[in-house]
Amino acid sequence: MRTPLMAGNWKMNKTVGEAVAALKALKPLVADVKDVEVLICPVFTSLYAVSREIENSEIKLGAQNLFWEAKGAFTGEVSPSMVKDAGCSYVIIGHSERRQYFGETDETVNKKTKAAFGAGLIPIVCVGETLKEREENITFKVIEKQIRDGLSGLSGEQASSLVIAYEPVWAIGTGKTATPDQAQEVHAFIRKLYAEIYKEAAESVRILYGGSVNPKNVSDLMKQPDIDGGLVGGASLEADSFSQLVKYLK
Ligand code: PEP
Repeated sequence: MRTPLMAGNWKMNKTVGEAVAALKALKPLVADVKDVEVLICPVFTSLYAVSREIENSEIKLGAQNLFWEAKGAFTGEVSPSMVKDAGCSYVIIGHSERRQYFGETDETVNKKTKAAFGAGLIPIVCVGETLKEREENITFKVIEKQIRDGLSGLSGEQASSLVIAYEPVWAIGTGKTATPDQAQEVHAFIRKLYAEIYKEAAESVRILYGGSVNPKNVSDLMKQPDIDGGLVGGASLEADSFSQLVKYLK
């Protein structure tokens, strides 16, 4: 049984004060939710303050990135154990914006994923095709490479606890959502491929969909057998809309 995970990726939004205020608003709205894991991923500077705010709640905390080295002369970077120390249990790795604007590759995704596990964090590894790649009919090929290279060399236990986020790049922040069938097709492909590589871990790995998820489309997406939750940008910024996503069953 895979517990659904609804993860809010706040990207580069909210000051410390705004982040804490958003959590104060969200906490009572999701206090009665027991069947869905709720995760918020603010910017680095807000992590510690948010971790204090969510103490004694079921809401979990994640970072949006990390660096794979443990410490040293890497100006501007944050290590896995520092992310853990700030109160995180999850970390997003290889978001398409990081691949596009910051040169992340499957190789750096792999290093970061292993380093995250080394610090006791659960990585949420993002994969997804661009519009051009979809139009060229190479979606599966692109995703296969991202999974095989980005997730190579994990232990069975790591492979089971990992979270994958399928985020078609053309659907992120554009208001264009993949249809439930389009998303399910790729999620099923990912699970089958994962079974080839990691055998029974394919049954426990959670595969989130990301790309313009909102309170109107969430329940149809979540009905799909291989969609185990959402990685949500825009609609996670307001407590009200994010709580509606978390409560997609109601
Ligand atoms: C994201 O940030 O991962 C994302 C899917 O954004 P949005 O929900 O705004 O499309």
